[in-house]
Amino acid sequence: MPTNPTAKLTADETKAMLLATAKQMIADGLVEGTSGNLSARLPDGNAVLTPSSLPYETMTLDDLVVCDLDGNVLEGTRSPTTEKDLHLECLRVHQDIHAVMHCHAKYSTMFALVRQPIPCVIEEVHAYIGGDIEVAEYQLTGSKELGVEVARHVGDKAAVLMANHGLLTVGKHPQDCLKLATLVERTAEIVWGARALGSIVPLPESTVQRMAPVYKNYMRLY
Ligand SMILES: [Zn+2]
Repeated sequence: MPTNPTAKLTADETKAMLLATAKQMIADGLVEGTSGNLSARLPDGNAVLTPSSLPYETMTLDDLVVCDLDGNVLEGTRSPTTEKDLHLECLRVHQDIHAVMHCHAKYSTMFALVRQPIPCVIEEVHAYIGGDIEVAEYQLTGSKELGVEVARHVGDKAAVLMANHGLLTVGKHPQDCLKLATLVERTAEIVWGARALGSIVPLPESTVQRMAPVYKNYMRLY
């Protein structure tokens, strides 16, 4: 797997990274059981997705499903994740997004339940996420409407909360999405704790201005 963030992956490398990331997602406690899901764009323009309702611990490359961006299954014997529209809509609408991860990280989901954005009050969040992590409006899990609503919130930002549900991150490849989900979850926990200590002081406007182009430049690299 490339260490160079600008190096594009082959189809086999993408699938291997997707599987490894899915296993890491459950090992890191970002989901429980068979919940959460991942997808990545393949070099031919189709997408590889995690299957529906299968434990990550025993999942193999053969369990992954390849779909075109309209959701037709091209490879694999399993059904794709029931949230496939969530993933495919993000990949369809945003050409610079190459991977999508959805999880139920605990602190992030707390913010999603009260429908409060996670404020961007840490420099690295500006650089990697692009600003506050907003809350996409509630839509039923698995619905096309959820995909459309969530896809509206990513692109200019790398993460969005899904009302009463969880978190979604987008990136260049699956590991990128995991790294971002971990950053969002850590930020959600820190903000939650900081609010118990006192009022959070926002970043100076000059820092916000300085950080604004960093995310956009990073996304353009791949
Ligand atoms: Zn979910």
